[in-house]
Amino acid sequence: MEIRKSGRVHYVESKLFSARGGSVQGFTTRHEGVSRPPYNSLNLGLSTLDSPHNVEGNRSILARAFDARVEKLVTVTQVHGNDLLLLDQPNPDFSHFLKLECDGLVTNQPGVMIGVCVADCAPVLLLDPVNKVVAAIHAGWKGTVAGIVAKGVQAMVNLFDGRPRDILASIGPTIGACCYEVDEPVAEAFRNAGQDFEVFAQPSGDRKWRLDLAQANRQQLLRTGIAEENIEVCKLCVSCEKDLFFSYRRDKGETGRQMGFIMLKK
Ligand SMILES: [Zn+2]
Repeated sequence: MEIRKSGRVHYVESKLFSARGGSVQGFTTRHEGVSRPPYNSLNLGLSTLDSPHNVEGNRSILARAFDARVEKLVTVTQVHGNDLLLLDQPNPDFSHFLKLECDGLVTNQPGVMIGVCVADCAPVLLLDPVNKVVAAIHAGWKGTVAGIVAKGVQAMVNLFDGRPRDILASIGPTIGACCYEVDEPVAEAFRNAGQDFEVFAQPSGDRKWRLDLAQANRQQLLRTGIAEENIEVCKLCVSCEKDLFFSYRRDKGETGRQMGFIMLKK
């Protein structure tokens, strides 16, 4: 992964994806937007208490930076579940999707930019360069327990005849194990879901663990049959990297959202 700039937007880009061509993608940083503190400045989350006018302005900055149309920048109302929205029509009523409650989007439509808003949770992008299908997924600990990234891969396989070995995955800036302590109910939820909690969490005291959420999602992707060399994980912790990213925990809830976004080129 590397930090790049397009238009006004500084973003982290997956080299794995860019080497294959056919899409624009990445994870935004907080720089060069129009929102004021504590949302400074490229806050892309409409669920925050930031002025909607500023968030709209920031979404326009993002769309413009990648030659996308802002009305075709599609996000949803994220609820920490595992439902996905499938966009397989060229011209639906895009404004309608904003109210839909789900946590991931899948599309085969060029020119439609799909995105998930995060501030700690893992943003995960998928690309099937053979079938030309992409996905953007929001995976906090609840979504990860509910297997949302595996569900994203399954959607690409079942709905578009994809093969896991063709699919690439990019896990963006997430809160790191350095800053993410969780307690027993979280550990239990992972174990009950049949996930190897001890593989991606380290004990840190009395019934407490440091959870590596990006690693948890990487493990889940590996189990779907995606090749190890086709998964890229960003090493940056959003809580440690205060100048680059928003972090809900660090900023005690009063903060903006960065976005993981992807669009098939026309
Ligand atoms: Zn950290």
